[in-house]
Amino acid sequence: MTTAISPARHTLQSVFGYEAFRPHQEAIVESVIDGGDALVLMPTGGGKSLCYQVPALVRAGCGIVISPLIALMQDQVDSLRELGVRASYLNSSLAPEEARAVETALLAGELDMLYVAPERLIQERTQALLERSRIALFAIDEAHCVSQWGHDFRADYLQLSLLHERFPEVPRVALTATADARTRQEIVQRLDLGAARQFIAGFDRPNICYRIALKQNPRQQLLRFLREEHPRDAGIVYCLSRKKTEEVAAWLCEQGFNALPYHAGLDPRLRATHQSRFLREDGLIMVATIAFGMGIDKPDVRFVAHLDLPKTVEAYYQETGRAGRDGQSANAWLVYGLQDVIKLRQMMESSEGSEEHKRAEQQRLNAMLGLCEITSCRRQALLRYFGDSLETPCGNCDSCLQPVETWDGTEAARKALSAAYRTGQRFGVNHLVDVLRGADTERVRQLDHHTLPTYGIGRELDNNQWRSVFRQLVARGYLSVDMEFGALRLQAQCRPLLRGEETLDLRKDQPQQAAKQRTRQPLPEDIDVGLWEALRDRRRELAEEQGIPPYIIFHDRTLQEM
Ligand code: ADP
Ligand code: MG
Repeated sequence: MTTAISPARHTLQSVFGYEAFRPHQEAIVESVIDGGDALVLMPTGGGKSLCYQVPALVRAGCGIVISPLIALMQDQVDSLRELGVRASYLNSSLAPEEARAVETALLAGELDMLYVAPERLIQERTQALLERSRIALFAIDEAHCVSQWGHDFRADYLQLSLLHERFPEVPRVALTATADARTRQEIVQRLDLGAARQFIAGFDRPNICYRIALKQNPRQQLLRFLREEHPRDAGIVYCLSRKKTEEVAAWLCEQGFNALPYHAGLDPRLRATHQSRFLREDGLIMVATIAFGMGIDKPDVRFVAHLDLPKTVEAYYQETGRAGRDGQSANAWLVYGLQDVIKLRQMMESSEGSEEHKRAEQQRLNAMLGLCEITSCRRQALLRYFGDSLETPCGNCDSCLQPVETWDGTEAARKALSAAYRTGQRFGVNHLVDVLRGADTERVRQLDHHTLPTYGIGRELDNNQWRSVFRQLVARGYLSVDMEFGALRLQAQCRPLLRGEETLDLRKDQPQQAAKQRTRQPLPEDIDVGLWEALRDRRRELAEEQGIPPYIIFHDRTLQEM
């Protein structure tokens, strides 16, 4: 199905380069495009600017943006111009002839957006100018400045009600992050916005229960989740690849569920059929790539499950946000593991785009990992990410319902980092765990004497526990994952930890009993035992000199070379 894309979404994608609107943005944008007044309350960082920028571009004429932040106007205009938007500003920082050039451009219909300081806007000269121009809308940013009770009060804002008197046909959108009811009332009253639609966008979705677990046997984990909690419910299962959506859908059907695949590679008619079946039928599970969901408004989606890690917190929030639109309780369920991180990083690395773009993508992925690894309330973390807040832990996420146990992983982390360093930072997690556990594998038999100091020093943890340590070290930026081979490399952030200046609490994923003590593996045969013993003794000496555990073979010089 090729649903015609709306002008608003087209503008969002082609001008701003964003995939999708955030919650509320689309409704606001459509309402303003239709000529309605709007009052928008959205937390800082929520994306208020797009709520007027998109309609300003879609509607004929120039969008007038009133903002008290003169210092920021230049920046805002510059970044719009970079996107190809014809933007300018009028404020006291302009020389008279510069201001005249802007006015001329406005009159000639050569501007898409004009930022104006409030004191400038209310001048008769500006008013007369606007009357002779074609105006798409008025956006009143930081609208709480009309409130005499707040500390941002700006007397000039009080006169902005004249906009309604002089330009009754032009839609106005007032925006603020200050959400308390009294301020809202004042804004409505003083800006004459009685007929405006109000959009109040807190980011909290209290009926969604966020749960993130370690990926062990993902299909079985999913099956258990569905059987125990959603045996007959409609839901979405997100996967990274098209192939996987088909496999998982087929497999779920074998397990007795009603599941359909959805991805951009399906025949368009089939895709349309699957989508409309999902909307109409009860209890259908859509196994989909991220191609599914935009604009889907099905109120009774009871769960959104992720079998693969989303690339960003925004994507996670948006995808999980498709659950529970009816306000009834719903689950956002995700399993992830180190392989997800490696796969996503590889995808990012091999994608086209500038280094800066890749770095930004990495940072966003790291934020997502942070959310996965957090040991406190997930909802608080999620809301914090969007600049929203929640005073107390939510009581309705996995961290709140089953408080995460942590353990002092300082020593384990040092051992893990030592093993990675000693093996030349060339290996992935499997081999490093083998080294630490003193396993007898082909590759371990090829160890050289550099590696030996870390051979078998980690028998107190089992395989899963070591994997968990490595995963958390990657998630927290102590180790990076080499794109091609999955080799783990130390990051500068390791230094304080290795120097003993920092301790590290880790999540307890597995029951933390001591692993069964295996009998010590014999040393590989072709190793020079004399050398091994000499090294061991030297290591102990060093450790004593520096007062650090024997497996820490870093000294300051090594750290500086890193
Ligand atoms: P506010 O004015 O509400 O504080 P902004 O309009 O400055 O927030 O937006 C905050 C950030 O969110 C900006 O970096 C913006 O580019 C980004 N943003 C806004 N809407 C979207 C969207 N739909 N998709 C992706 N990023 C968005
Ligand atoms: Mg803003």
